[in-house]
Amino acid sequence: MKKIQMVDLKGQYDKIKDTVNASIQEVLDTTAYINGPEVQKFQKGLEDYLGVKHVIPCANGTDALQIAMMGLDLKPGDEIITADFTFAATVEVIALLQLTPVLVDVNPDTFNISIEAIRKAITPKTKAIVPVHLFGQAADMEAIMAIAKEHNLYVIEDNAQAIGANYKYADGSKKKAGVIGHVASTSFFPSKNLGCYGDGGAIFTNDDELAHKLRGIVNHGMYVRYHHDVVGVNSRLDSVQAAVLNAKLPLLDSYNKARREAAEKYNKAFAGHADIITPVVKGDADSHVFHQYTLRVLNADRNALMQHLLDRGIPCAIYYPIPLHSQKAYADSRYNENDFVVTNQLVKEVIALPMHTELDDEQIKYITDTILEFLSV
Ligand SMILES: *Cc1c(COP(=O)(O)O)cnc(C)c1O
Repeated sequence: MKKIQMVDLKGQYDKIKDTVNASIQEVLDTTAYINGPEVQKFQKGLEDYLGVKHVIPCANGTDALQIAMMGLDLKPGDEIITADFTFAATVEVIALLQLTPVLVDVNPDTFNISIEAIRKAITPKTKAIVPVHLFGQAADMEAIMAIAKEHNLYVIEDNAQAIGANYKYADGSKKKAGVIGHVASTSFFPSKNLGCYGDGGAIFTNDDELAHKLRGIVNHGMYVRYHHDVVGVNSRLDSVQAAVLNAKLPLLDSYNKARREAAEKYNKAFAGHADIITPVVKGDADSHVFHQYTLRVLNADRNALMQHLLDRGIPCAIYYPIPLHSQKAYADSRYNENDFVVTNQLVKEVIALPMHTELDDEQIKYITDTILEFLSV
């Protein structure tokens, strides 16, 4: 059996080596390292793929979120609602911009931000909601957009984990995650579903005026060379990373399909087990792109299970072990533990299994057998 990895970047690269190498070589031969034709090609390719008017490439997913927020009309002290159960980048940029993060609880089935909790957290100071499409499945965007409309709020989608996922509306129509809110961010960190070979990110929006503003912000606030109209940052997707992404974008759907197929095999092996809750998919199968495959394990010593897996050559991870409201940097005396019942529970139960495009049946069987064996004793 091939060595099991949490993410198999080498196995994936080996299959596309010729295309990727040729694409990188082109950048080296033309020395168009910054803002070269590869970057423009990727921007256009991603706009077409997502069905969105504007993609603004930038240096990483954290910058993408920050820049998206800088482009909106937000002021220090404005309250921004986001999920308690996510990666810290989401709350970090809110705090960095001197906006006030308001963390709220998530749903126990999808792990995504709770609509009830959003409603409860809204005050006259609330200006935006940042849903995170966690582990590869879009949050309940239809309900979130309705709340936003009712209270005149911006919606900034953190789509770092769900690129290519389809969100299904109640009427059956679909849109790609990341093109539903006012603006969205994504990351091309190597292990993400569309990963480059270093850092990369992008912002998407259908709003022409906002897109124009964002294109200046990523480039030192310049719209005309050496004229700095707004305070900006330097955040670029470099041409080598764009070259990698151009080689991989045409494969994104097949990569997401491979992840979904691996998830289905896991689900099948765990089906009906009293102590395992497998990921819940709302909508159709294409609603989830399984950035992570996360189980909830009940009535078991999760740390002992992790050790059992690691001892048998199976990597696994806890995303996320500590609720953001319990992190020193984001603690706030206004928070009440009773408002985070779900997150406080999830952090004790979740375990993420190896998930990538190169998992084979033998590996999946070994992983599921090892888990079932542990839970049966
Ligand atoms: C990865 C990730 C980010 C940050 O992306 P980087 O490119 O690493 O800066 C932000 N939010 C979420 C939910 C992520 O998973």
